[in-house]
Amino acid sequence: MNIRTRFAPSPTGYLHLGNIWVAFLNWLWTRQHKGKIVLRIEDIDETRCHKNYISFIKNDLEWLGIDWDEEPGTCYFYGEPLQSKRIPIYEEIKQRWQHSGEIYPCFCSRTRLHQISSAPHKGETITYYDGHCRYLSQEEQKALTKKPSWRLKVENTSIEFNDLFHHLQSKNLEREKDDFAIFRADGAVAYQLATATDDGAMKITHVFRGSDLLPSTFYQIYILKKLNYTVPVYGHLPLLVDKDGIRLSKRQKGLTIQELKQNHISPEQIIGQLLYWAGAISHLEPISAQKACNEISFNECKNLNHMTISI
Ligand SMILES: [Zn+2]
Repeated sequence: MNIRTRFAPSPTGYLHLGNIWVAFLNWLWTRQHKGKIVLRIEDIDETRCHKNYISFIKNDLEWLGIDWDEEPGTCYFYGEPLQSKRIPIYEEIKQRWQHSGEIYPCFCSRTRLHQISSAPHKGETITYYDGHCRYLSQEEQKALTKKPSWRLKVENTSIEFNDLFHHLQSKNLEREKDDFAIFRADGAVAYQLATATDDGAMKITHVFRGSDLLPSTFYQIYILKKLNYTVPVYGHLPLLVDKDGIRLSKRQKGLTIQELKQNHISPEQIIGQLLYWAGAISHLEPISAQKACNEISFNECKNLNHMTISI
């Protein structure tokens, strides 16, 4: 099996420790399994993404000793790993599903969607729908002026996957309630469609990412199966959270790689810290990424079956 993984940041800011945690563990696992790494830049949200950050992302990864095999700027066998260049692929899927009646325009306002969604768990990104626009007639659709989002007509089905760190995960997707958006009202492709399509098209075999994305996985598997792609193996890594249980985000000062560099923290100190959080080493010590790859087995990371790790 040709192992292929991806690290897929959005260029919305500088990389921070939470990003590097995922990037490093993905790199460590992939290199120890002789696989290839795709650096995929997810820049579809035009309002939040800036091209300038792409070079910072690459520089920070290089500085830490994390390398990759495919990157934006080159068209590889499976295409270029830059989502803004892949929009025709997502549009083609949308047109195909429009034609076959597998998606429908949803004209609901944000307020309405908010009212009908069952209170999602804290931090959960999935909200539920009631199927309202699934049954609009063409006349009714024509009478509406709001720009619609596009929802997939989900059929009742059970989705299961064996997470590398969290064992068997399963969820029943329900008609109407789980009809999720594949294109947003502003015309941008929705995260679930872009990510699932790219993982499938780029023959990604293993997906490592934060446990906050575990609920999204059921929807992405639904899309992958619909597009006849092989479903990757998923490993959802614990989220790094601060003492108050708040996850590290780009908004938190002091934890970007840029800031750590300025504070004279070395790459070896950062890698050592990541391995310590992962439970691979019992005492904090600086170590280079390459040395860690040669000497510490990924299997030594004993803490990865948690959903969060307090740092
Ligand atoms: Zn609607």
